[in-house]
Amino acid sequence: MLRVDIRQLQQGSAETVGQLEPGDPALEGLGLVLVEPVRVSGELQATGGGDYLWRGYLRAAVAGECRRCLKPVTQQLDEGMDVLFSADPDLVEDPSVYALSPDATGVDVTMAVREELALRLSAFPLCRPDCQGLCAICGADLNAGPCLAHGPGTTD
Ligand SMILES: [Zn+2]
Ligand SMILES: [Zn+2]
Repeated sequence: MLRVDIRQLQQGSAETVGQLEPGDPALEGLGLVLVEPVRVSGELQATGGGDYLWRGYLRAAVAGECRRCLKPVTQQLDEGMDVLFSADPDLVEDPSVYALSPDATGVDVTMAVREELALRLSAFPLCRPDCQGLCAICGADLNAGPCLAHGPGTTD
């Protein structure tokens, strides 16, 4: 369950466990190609004053292509995070705090999952940090060695 009833939180913390399938409407518009469902776990607790702290954990694998050589790459995300949900208008100005409506009856961590995925997965992944990319002229893969026709040392 990724949505927790606030009454349940008044008695202590609650576990959040669930997964978002590829194509889940909560992920729509992010342009992420999920290789497997996003797995979510963690614990939500009331911290007083109508605020709720989520100690969340996300596991995801996303397909993309290297921004330099266009080879398919899979980005793995395997990260824990602390996220605050609040109905306090002063706190909500902080972009890392998720807004709760003052009459909310539950805390749904799904929107935090969406945002954290968008923040943490690079839109421009690299197949490896030192990827050499492609020859700008003929498209040869420079990871295999300098382009013989257009590499350094050739005049044209
Ligand atoms: Zn590459
Ligand atoms: Zn070339």
